[in-house]
Amino acid sequence: MWVRRTSVFLSVAVMVGGLGAAVPVTAAPVGAGLVKQPVATGYGGAVSTVDLDASRAGLRVLRAGGNAVDAAVAAAAALGVTEPYSAGLGGGGFLLYYDARTHRVHTLDGRETAPAAMGADAFLDPTTGQPLAFVDAVTSGLSVGVPGTPATWAAALRRWGTRDLAEVLRPATELARQGFVVDPTFYQQTVDNAARFAHFTSTAALYLPGGRPVPVGGVQHNPDLARTYQQLARQGIGAVYRGPLAAEIAGTAEHPPLVPGDPYTARPGLLRLADLAAYRAIERAPTQVRYHDLDVYGMAPPSSGGPTVGEALNILADLPPADLSPADPVPALHDYLESTRLAFADRNRYVGDPDQVDVPLAELLAPGFAAERACLIDPLRAATSPVPPGRPDGEYHGCPAPLGAGGGEPSEGPNTTSLVTADRWGNVVAYTLTIEQTGGSGMVVPGRGFLLNNELTDFNFAPTQGSAPDPNLPAPGKRPRSSMAPTIVLRDGQPFLAVGSPGGATIITTVLQVLINRLDLGMDLPEAIAAPRASQRNGVSTTAEPAFLDAYGAALVARGQLFSRTAEIGAATGLEFAGRGLIVAAAEPARRGGGSAVVVWPAR
Ligand code: GLU
Repeated sequence: MWVRRTSVFLSVAVMVGGLGAAVPVTAAPVGAGLVKQPVATGYGGAVSTVDLDASRAGLRVLRAGGNAVDAAVAAAAALGVTEPYSAGLGGGGFLLYYDARTHRVHTLDGRETAPAAMGADAFLDPTTGQPLAFVDAVTSGLSVGVPGTPATWAAALRRWGTRDLAEVLRPATELARQGFVVDPTFYQQTVDNAARFAHFTSTAALYLPGGRPVPVGGVQHNPDLARTYQQLARQGIGAVYRGPLAAEIAGTAEHPPLVPGDPYTARPGLLRLADLAAYRAIERAPTQVRYHDLDVYGMAPPSSGGPTVGEALNILADLPPADLSPADPVPALHDYLESTRLAFADRNRYVGDPDQVDVPLAELLAPGFAAERACLIDPLRAATSPVPPGRPDGEYHGCPAPLGAGGGEPSEGPNTTSLVTADRWGNVVAYTLTIEQTGGSGMVVPGRGFLLNNELTDFNFAPTQGSAPDPNLPAPGKRPRSSMAPTIVLRDGQPFLAVGSPGGATIITTVLQVLINRLDLGMDLPEAIAAPRASQRNGVSTTAEPAFLDAYGAALVARGQLFSRTAEIGAATGLEFAGRGLIVAAAEPARRGGGSAVVVWPAR
């Protein structure tokens, strides 16, 4: 099978094999000698990402004495080079950090913000009053929120890191300058985006050199990004939010760099310099639920990741324990699908930016509320979606009548990226970051080498909750609701698991399914990540991978579940702390071309 993506150095043998033109090798490789593998077991720290180069960047920082936070930023910066359509300086994300000294879990909200000029009707067509077509909204300046990823890196390093920005950006800077070998996944992503990338001078110049995607086996360089990383290394992250680079970001959104004469209507953005200057990554309390003898920590709103994973776990904890048996997984999988069906109804009704709407977070995570929701589950008969939301009002008895009608199923995408790191001191990071769609807004900041996000399309374009208020409409400075769900599980105050995934709203179900596989269905972590997936998000049918349907489809259909087939769901990464310092680092063996797990000292 094709190695997914490697820097030019490891791929020399491949190149000699005739897949591409000779590549100039100009400097030492970024952590050469490692091969891409989805599972690594050992000591002294670990990194798991979707990409070998990114895992190596993190490992290099760990080996140089950096901690889990330093390694996470280094790996994320490398993903900005090799996974530029999923994540980078122009996007946002959420970071969870377990501090081994205090035994506390901290989180950083690096979600993009809406510009001050953005009102609730921003995504309505001014002439018709109807919501804009999603694709038109995506490829526009209008969808661009203030990037939160740079501020997240700075805040994480300042609060918990031990290395300076210049040091952790170094591997990624080298990677951007030297280039990486294009694999079939990256090539296909470029092909899929080629028509919209071709609208913009800057994006076409970087990702369609000579008018075409770099072919499989060719080398994708990004010297502009290398220079941008070097500038940030010298001047600090503040350069993204104030000064010339900030002006260029705002200018790109306000005046999309269309190819002269291109008739495409790229709607102008509302982003201004003052919006960038006002941006802050916010430290928020994590969500926490108790599941079995474990404490499960997640990301609080504006992400719905922690609330929805947490509510679903609470619902499952309320169901008969006999359902959760590895001997016959069908009852557990039925309960799993029903738990997220209900939890998504509540997510849609109640979760938005907590700084702008009242999110009843404590009640959504209250065991009493979960009991009310769990009593609606028929073990032998799936509910019909959309199911209505419940009442997280603090008064819980029996099986109260549902609350009006249910909202629609949230959209999903295969985008985003998620990584986990650990260090020799026992600190742990789970970090999910994104530019939203694959390829974001489609607009590279000219001369800067990174794509701008389209995160503001995560707002609802028009009210979705009938007569009830919609918590996720655009507003000035507001952060759109996310599904990102970096998760850290503690047992007796010590790290036990860390996990995360991309995949839009399916992130929530992927993380939950990995947890159930590991905690209830007798799988080890690599098996829990590899196992076939299904995702129920209060939609009429449940999306499921073919292998899931082959294994469980008939038995679940007999319980009234409806399915639609999808090739792949998510691309998880995870760590398990197996005792006495042993770490099992795991990534996907196959999805999205497979991921890369590495450890500092491999176990023999
Ligand atoms: N924008 C999505 C979210 O925050 C992530 C992008 C994706 O994975 O599709 O939930």
